[in-house]
Amino acid sequence: MDCCNAARRSALAALLAIFGGCSDELNDESSGVATVAATVDAIVPRDVILLTLDTLRADRLGCYGHPGGLTPNLDRIAREGTRFEHAMAPMPCTAPAHAALFTGLSPRLCGVTSNFTKAPDAIETLAERLRSLGFATGALFNAFDFSAINLVQGFDGIAFDKGRRAERIVAAVAQCLASTAGRRRFTWVHLFIPHGPHDLPEAFATRVTHRYDGPLKDDFFSMEKLRSGEVAVPPDFAAWYSDRYDAAVAFTDARVGELRAAFERAGAWDNALVIVVADHGESLEGRTLGFHAPVIAETTLHVPMLWRGPGIPAGRVVPQLALHLDVVPTLFAQLGETIPGELEGRDLSPLFEADDLAALEWSRHGIATLPTRFEGKASGDSEAAVVRSGRFKLILREGGARALFDLAADPAETSDVSVAHADVVRALESAFESWVRATAEATSGGAVSPEMAAQLRKLGYQ
Ligand SMILES: [Zn+2]
Repeated sequence: MDCCNAARRSALAALLAIFGGCSDELNDESSGVATVAATVDAIVPRDVILLTLDTLRADRLGCYGHPGGLTPNLDRIAREGTRFEHAMAPMPCTAPAHAALFTGLSPRLCGVTSNFTKAPDAIETLAERLRSLGFATGALFNAFDFSAINLVQGFDGIAFDKGRRAERIVAAVAQCLASTAGRRRFTWVHLFIPHGPHDLPEAFATRVTHRYDGPLKDDFFSMEKLRSGEVAVPPDFAAWYSDRYDAAVAFTDARVGELRAAFERAGAWDNALVIVVADHGESLEGRTLGFHAPVIAETTLHVPMLWRGPGIPAGRVVPQLALHLDVVPTLFAQLGETIPGELEGRDLSPLFEADDLAALEWSRHGIATLPTRFEGKASGDSEAAVVRSGRFKLILREGGARALFDLAADPAETSDVSVAHADVVRALESAFESWVRATAEATSGGAVSPEMAAQLRKLGYQ
């Protein structure tokens, strides 16, 4: 890794020395620059692409074992790059999970602990950091307005599509790339599609094979009836709803294919550093069917994470735990830049470069908590936090109850092994207590505006 990063730094230094950082000159073939630039491009990515997919469970992707063929485009990216088998969201909630991706800090430490709290102005985001390195920065997102929670700091250009199907996002990406041709670029694209209620085009609605003819709908009103216990979950409704979710996943994957084609047409894909990650998953079971924020099970915390690009091995599957917090430090390492200080995340680069992953020492903890607005709600889930290390996951419940699961042997979290592994429980509890102490000083940027709160309630958030 040191060798690799040193090579990148050296190449970048050479580039800056020759061109004085002026990207326009990169296209000057008459001076023989193109040959040098092509060599440097192979080492230092010109484009960084972060694609965040909302509410996408890892277990629905073919590359994570789903047999339904829902995700050919994402599976292709996984084959071309490295897939993290165990990536974990810091909170099953849109704004806090994205805040962790953008800051390298947990939601508690960066102050975004629900969809209703803003990031502080003082927080330094990934876009701000890359812009200071000379990157053009573009943000394209749909349905959820990230500007209202102060998470678009550092983006030069912003495109927000209010629709759920992201109809305008692909066209906006092409425009964004055309306007920044020749520059180093950071482009963040967010797709909201797998999030319910599901607005399916006909071509994807036909994938729904289970039938349900009762009074419940694919809407928040019906989900709330289930969560409150007013109505028991009809099995045929759950099967029908799960089908609709799967169809939405297939629709999302088709959009990913369209986005890839747009980047390819602009020459911005092949040598780009591409990161694909979901903010969180989705519950499709029991009373929390159709929800994620009040659920701290693997259904909502286990997310897909794929990396592709120069320096990223193709076809690699990493078994070690990876977190949203790791994206900023890893990205800086891959760009050959100094990793910003005071981040909670860890540089994942050794996992790209190790000859024998099984032999690599990679001891770490991952922590997930619930959004503040859901703590203590009677949803059937009252868990407050998760501490994950290796195969073990400790759930800390309000009131002091503990449950330990061995996810390697019991991925469905059905058997509490805390008695048999009391030493693991103590170690994970200690790690959690240390983390709580270390993150106690954080401040939020305050509550969102009443208008944004109303908009969030329209999207179904509470
Ligand atoms: Zn989300």
